[in-house]
Amino acid sequence: MNIRTVGVVGAGTMGNGIAHVFARGGYNVILCDVEQRFLDRALGTIAKNLEREVAKNKITAADKDSALGRIQAVTDRGKLAGCDFVVEAATEKFEIKTEIFRDLDRLTRPEIILASNTSSISITKLAALTKRPERVIGMHFFNPVPVMKLVEVIRGLATSQETFETVRDLSVKLEKTPVEVNDAPGFVSNRVLMPLLNEAMYAVMEGVATAEAVDDVFKLGMAHPMGPLTLADFIGLDVCLDIMRVLHGGLGDPKYRPCPLLIKMVDAGWMGRKSGRGFYKY
Ligand code: NAD
Repeated sequence: MNIRTVGVVGAGTMGNGIAHVFARGGYNVILCDVEQRFLDRALGTIAKNLEREVAKNKITAADKDSALGRIQAVTDRGKLAGCDFVVEAATEKFEIKTEIFRDLDRLTRPEIILASNTSSISITKLAALTKRPERVIGMHFFNPVPVMKLVEVIRGLATSQETFETVRDLSVKLEKTPVEVNDAPGFVSNRVLMPLLNEAMYAVMEGVATAEAVDDVFKLGMAHPMGPLTLADFIGLDVCLDIMRVLHGGLGDPKYRPCPLLIKMVDAGWMGRKSGRGFYKY
């Protein structure tokens, strides 16, 4: 199918980045969120990030203006009815995604693909909510979306080869590098990354080293651009805890047990960078 208009549901951190790369890639984008203020914030962020690309000579000022002109921001989900492809990037809660997938399935043409940017929710389960499970897939972008090259393309149990190939090719058109992954808790990225961050938290909790020392070990010894605790603060400690719970529940192995210090910090409202306090103060 010829994809010209792409729906993006959720205009937060990831949704605005996804809208940005599709619009920059020449697609018409309908960006949908529940309140106008979230859309206004997203459009402001997209304009600022496109401007940064102009300053770096990656795109021209005319490219920026035409990309912005291709984005329509809506609170009425019904406007997604004519889309040729939809990516859902709403809040990481199964109930929220359930409602969205049922509605998208009802609203959009049955032949179009519905993708989710979820970090941890089962693609197989999202697909089963629809009457088109073979056309539901994970399209997992990385933050910041305009910069990061990877797209994890996740096949649910029922995802067809045609759907997989369409999303793989679409990722390449967006100048991303798709990597094929089967549906399993945390996919590859979070299944491997989150236990690393969780273990770094255990090291701090048990007094093995300070957060700064743990981060230095990874920056200086493993050439990581940022240490695991800085990264956890950047991702959000609440998000890290949610993903550890998905791994623990889904895989059932005690090695995925969320670190008690992580639970305590989230209980205290210390969510990392976004709340001003996590393993570091901001
Ligand atoms: P966010 O909180 O920044 O944004 C979520 C947006 O979804 C909000 O603007 C919210 O208003 C909107 N929303 C909630 N319910 C909605 C509904 N019913 N209809 C339309 N919009 C709705 O979250 P985020 O970090 O952008 O994460 C979005 C998705 O991307 C999640 O599934 C998350 O797991 C995934 N993800 C996040 C990251 C990351 O680093 N933040 C990376 C990869 C994937």
